[in-house]
Amino acid sequence: MNYDVVVVGGGPAGLAFARSLAASGLRLAVVEREPRDALADPPCDGREIALTHRSVATLQRLGAWERLAPGDIAPLRAARVLNGGSHFALAFDAQGQGDEKLGHLVSNQAIRRTLFAAIQDQAGLDILSGTGVATVQTTRKRAEITLADGRLLTARLLVAADSRFSAVREQLGIEARIDRLGRSMLVCRVSHERDHGGVATEWFEHGHTIAMLPLVGHQSSAVLTLPSDAVRRLADLDADLLGVELTRRYGARLGAMRVTEGPHVYPLATSWAEHFAATRAALIGDAAVGMHPVTAHGFNLGLQGQATLARLIAEAAARGGNIAAPLLLRRYEAAHRMAARPLFTATNLLVALYTDERPAARVARHAVLRLGAQLPQVRHGVSRLLMQH
Ligand SMILES: Cc1cc2nc3c(=O)[nH]c(=O)nc-3n(C[C@H](O)[C@H](O)[C@H](O)COP(=O)(O)OP(=O)(O)OC[C@H]3O[C@@H](n4cnc5c(N)ncnc54)[C@H](O)[C@@H]3O)c2cc1C
Repeated sequence: MNYDVVVVGGGPAGLAFARSLAASGLRLAVVEREPRDALADPPCDGREIALTHRSVATLQRLGAWERLAPGDIAPLRAARVLNGGSHFALAFDAQGQGDEKLGHLVSNQAIRRTLFAAIQDQAGLDILSGTGVATVQTTRKRAEITLADGRLLTARLLVAADSRFSAVREQLGIEARIDRLGRSMLVCRVSHERDHGGVATEWFEHGHTIAMLPLVGHQSSAVLTLPSDAVRRLADLDADLLGVELTRRYGARLGAMRVTEGPHVYPLATSWAEHFAATRAALIGDAAVGMHPVTAHGFNLGLQGQATLARLIAEAAARGGNIAAPLLLRRYEAAHRMAARPLFTATNLLVALYTDERPAARVARHAVLRLGAQLPQVRHGVSRLLMQH
């Protein structure tokens, strides 16, 4: 079982990467510990992914976008940010950006399903599912990957896409800064009385944050962030009571809400790998950068990074070069760190500002929103960042 590239992890980043190399002529394997059925028809995990225009274009190129049903795609027309009890909202829209939408919301379930459909018959690709990777080892000559069922794979290049808690990253000796934030997100799908108009809302209330992401029809994805023990208590509520609680916490802005799917709970942790590459190995997706979901950019960034690495590898393969050359891997690392660092830092600053409950921080939050509203270039800059053509 000798491959050119072995990808560990068949999540959205690993699948997209394997698909990006479809025309490279390389022999690939994706190892995923979940069974094949779960890849072909993944369960709902509550995540609604806000995709930038650039990500949509990437998914189109990969042949995943066209497999989505119209009901899978919800347009995101505008976003607004609220602070505490103030009626003031900082609004972002696509005006002046030559588009009528900020982006699109698609469930993680649909993204995974369509990416898998796009790669399942890909020539030169083996999907080894239902068994995880147990150990990895790389030398200057090759990478060796031992599966939990004892099989041994060798590869010219090993790519880790095994989540923000990547065990492969650890075995490669790459340190990562992991911040467990002590807070969790409760995510569920709700139906409601009023129309959301395609507007996403992020409301930083005192003691909790609630986001409402517009889905097709009178439906939204409710995302509530609280200390982990409080989220656990809410997740245990009966669905009707949870609907009442979400309606209350959202100030009944969309009328009465009813839970139609979920809840799902995500303990929040961010991660940043000290390196995105090592000898004959690279990290992509959350294994490289695990973003806080508040700015909705983790997968967008992962898609961008995998495309960068795949392009460098495909170019090297086309000229008969070394697809794991140290210079190539360093170029990937430099490009992806440059793309990720500002977003990662800005997101963490935002999280720090909006979870600080001291009175001075509340005033600072309000001042930041007002300042943002008075500076059109700031609003347009953020809109451009959210849209990323
Ligand atoms: C609530 C929430 C909302 C989000 N919203 C957005 C958003 O709006 N926009 C956005 O861009 N991003 C968003 N994200 C982030 C996005 O979901 C992640 O960035 C993305 O899922 C990461 O994909 P990945 O493939 O890198 O990792 P994962 O999705 O974590 O997949 C890793 C895969 O590796 C497999 N694996 C792990 N270890 C092994 C092993 N040893 N052997 C074999 N297989 C293994 C796992 O089974 C899994 O399938 C959100 C995240 C959350 C939690």
